[in-house]
Amino acid sequence: MADCLFCKIIAGDIPSTKVYEDETILAFRDIAPQAPTHILVIPKAHIPSVDGITAENSAVVAHIFQVIPQIAAAEGLTGGYRVVSNCGADAGQTVHHLHFHILGGKQLALEMA
Ligand code: AMP
Ligand code: ZN
Repeated sequence: MADCLFCKIIAGDIPSTKVYEDETILAFRDIAPQAPTHILVIPKAHIPSVDGITAENSAVVAHIFQVIPQIAAAEGLTGGYRVVSNCGADAGQTVHHLHFHILGGKQLALEMA
């Protein structure tokens, strides 16, 4: 997607601080961290949001969730962490390329809404 910020990060056109990469997914540090550790995990294929997950493309989502514990362990998040995906306007999604936030490194607030 020519106009997608995260597709540009995948292409290397916009710099990022990578923490994990393989053939199908990329993880990098959020530019405006909300916690001591704040990492975004994205599929390399452009999927706009959770709403765009289908039977055809969901294997990459399973893969993301398989890798998330490895990233959390590498980051030393032994006390736990939160995984969040904002979908759509009411959730405040600002980048329309599916991404999962990994937040940790402190006691996180309990509010979910
Ligand atoms: P969301 O609001 O759930 O769509 O999350 C988008 C996230 O992308 C926000 O936490 C932003 O801080 C983050 N973000 C925006 N631009 C960049 C960038 N160039 N590099 C890393 N993270 C970014
Ligand atoms: Zn994209």
